[in-house]
This record gives sequence, structure tokens and C-alpha cells, in this order.
Amino acid sequence: MIIRLILREILDYEIDELSGTVVNYYFTCKREAWLYHHKIHPDNWDDNIIVGRALADSESKKHKNVFDYLHFDKIKNKNGHFEVTEFKKSLKNSLSAEKQLLFYIYLLHKAIPKLKIVTGYIQSGKKRHKIEVSDDILKSFSLELYELFLVVKSEHPEKEIFKKICKKCAYYDYCF
Ligand code: SF4
Repeated sequence: MIIRLILREILDYEIDELSGTVVNYYFTCKREAWLYHHKIHPDNWDDNIIVGRALADSESKKHKNVFDYLHFDKIKNKNGHFEVTEFKKSLKNSLSAEKQLLFYIYLLHKAIPKLKIVTGYIQSGKKRHKIEVSDDILKSFSLELYELFLVVKSEHPEKEIFKKICKKCAYYDYCF
């Protein structure tokens, strides 16, 4: 109980340092999340990433707190039950996309504690993947967020470990 209270205090204080992108990267590669969080950006980002980054940077200047980062691609209110959808190019890396959306839902619940449970969907074309949300899931996610926070705030990034996705990662030259 005490640990949970301490964790909550830490998260309440520091969570605005995190972003959906860092959460997404963390569940793909902890080293990538650390590099991004420390504003180390690769030179070989493709045009999509550069445009996205420019938009994010200009948006972030307007943001005053973490709740301003809540930007669902689509949100529907069905008699007080919210449905939120995040569109992705593909569902290949669905775990990261799922955690990113869960992060937004988690923030939404923190902002509006009386909010009825939100249902989340990741959608790519006509394929739709439902994300389960419950109090227990949100509680265990808050612990994952705390672990994430410790990883990105640590002094050094996690050691590079080669995996299949590294070949397409913009940070490849930073690692190998
Ligand atoms: S190249 Fe591989 S180890 Fe390095 S940041 Fe990318 S995914 Fe992570």
C-alpha cells in the first residue's frame, strides 16, 4: 500500500515528462525510448518522421501540461461510454500501439476520475483490434509506466541488443 502511494506520488509529479511516442518506443526497444527521451535524434530520419517531429515540436510549445497531449484520432461517446480509436499504418507492432493508446486512456482516467471505462481500438484499414481496459489493467499499467520512467531517466541507455527490427530502425547507426 505504501509502495503504491509512493509510486502514485512519483507518477503524479513526473508523468508529464513522458509522451505517447516514448511509451510506443519503450515497448519496441528500451534503448530507442531512452535515446528519444534524451532528444538524441538520428540524422537519417525519413521525411515522415521529420514532418511528424516538426509538428510535435510546434505542438509541444503550446502544451501546458500532460493532458494537453491527449489527441485521439477518433473519439465517440455512446451514452457516457467512450470509445477511442488510434489509426496506424499497420497492426504489425500492435503491442506498442496498444500501450501508447493505453497511456492516453490512463491519462484520461487520471484527468477525469469519474469517467466511465473507455474502450480503445487500434485500427488499420478495415482491421480493428480492441484493447481491454479495466481498473486492474490501468493499475498494472501504472507500474509499467513507472518502470519506463526509471529506464528513460537512467544515466545511460540500455545496452544495444540486435534484433530483427534494428535493420529498419532510424537509430541503427547509434547502435551498431
Ligand atoms: S537499432 Fe535496435 S537496439 Fe538500436 S535503438 Fe533501434 S531497435 Fe533499439
